Amino acid sequence: MKKVAILGSTGSIGTQTLDVIRNNSDDFCVTALAAGNNIVLLEQQIREFHPLLVAVWKEENACKLRDMTTDLNVRIVSGMDGLIEVAVMQSSDILVTAIVGMIGIRPTIAAIKAGKDIALANKETLVTAGHIIIPLAKECGVQILPVDSEHSAIFQCLNGENRREIDKILLTASGGPFRGRTVKELEQVTVADALKHPNWSMGRKITVDSATMVNKGLEVMEAKWLFGVEMDDVEVVVQPQSVIHSMVQFKDGAIMAELGTPDMKLPIQYALFYPSRKYLPGTRLDFHTLKEITFDVPDQEVFRGLKMAYHVGREGGSLPTVFNAANEYAVARFLDEKIRFLDIYDIIEDAIGAHKNIPDPKVDAILDTERWTYEYIESRWHI
Ligand code: NDP
Repeated sequence: MKKVAILGSTGSIGTQTLDVIRNNSDDFCVTALAAGNNIVLLEQQIREFHPLLVAVWKEENACKLRDMTTDLNVRIVSGMDGLIEVAVMQSSDILVTAIVGMIGIRPTIAAIKAGKDIALANKETLVTAGHIIIPLAKECGVQILPVDSEHSAIFQCLNGENRREIDKILLTASGGPFRGRTVKELEQVTVADALKHPNWSMGRKITVDSATMVNKGLEVMEAKWLFGVEMDDVEVVVQPQSVIHSMVQFKDGAIMAELGTPDMKLPIQYALFYPSRKYLPGTRLDFHTLKEITFDVPDQEVFRGLKMAYHVGREGGSLPTVFNAANEYAVARFLDEKIRFLDIYDIIEDAIGAHKNIPDPKVDAILDTERWTYEYIESRWHI
């Protein structure tokens, strides 16, 4: 039986991971969980899955949760130390990083050092600290198994292949809810508009990132680290039906693709069972009713986030951290209706332009850069 710990168990990926575990209770058990504020759901999860250790971000929530679970054999911890305790839990085999944002860096590094395999959803960690995490994973002999659907697709296409024979990675994108819009048309879009993803149901931050196509930019950088390629070896292809989850073109011109219905449980389950495949309930692609699979080129002049991501990904150093932190900050303000949709691009561009790049930053420098980015935006934008 594989023992699983989850960072971000109350979120979109976290709850779907628990669905997979619930459906495969002979194969998996839960050792530890961590979440932010949703202690009501966390209590239900503790009662159902019986983890021995649970972390929440704030100590006051930890106190409340302790009171709510006095009848159970569970230890409740808090803060970054708590997240790290969950990440390195001695009895776990694998850590699912389903937390959102750069807060995942330290726990992920700690888990790798403790020899845990990582089922990685938290792409912000690789974008900002891929140069630390990937060599460390190699050194410690742990596997980084992608949970992001596109990267899982690429990982599946590379099964049994020689990575040196990759010509390019074709990373598919739905184009989000605003595909085909002009800059003018994006001026007045609302939070509700941005949260209407055509194909995928996800957390709020990543849904906005899909609308700006910043998410695709983060994914290009994630692919660079996961598969050891250059930024320019990753080409984004718009595939509006989200049926092709990504493709790999090899040196002889052959293209391998992974197709399916859009369901995050497939890549989650693949990462947990890897290298086996198990039955997953759900609808299947039906080529008799599927009317078309279409393609388009991303419009990088309208969706500037993608263009900026290629720039910071090529430059490397601390610039991807500025890109990511500025985006996290701006998206939070957009969700609070403090700024307009297009301001997100302006804020990221402004921060990137003002930053003095630090080559090969260590974790402290990455986190200092995150702080610098927030302070810079606050001082310039007063939001
Ligand atoms: P959600 O916003 O739905 O969930 C985020 C999770 O992180 C929640 O459990 C939240 O807890 C927890 N969390 C947030 N802040 C803290 C904190 N300070 N301490 C502890 N826990 C915290 O996000 P998603 O599930 O959508 O995304 C998670 C990650 O996976 C992101 O990096 C995203 O880019 C990536 N991803 C998501 C996909 C999806 O389909 N959703 C697809 C591919 C990748 P709480 O809610 O209790 O506050």
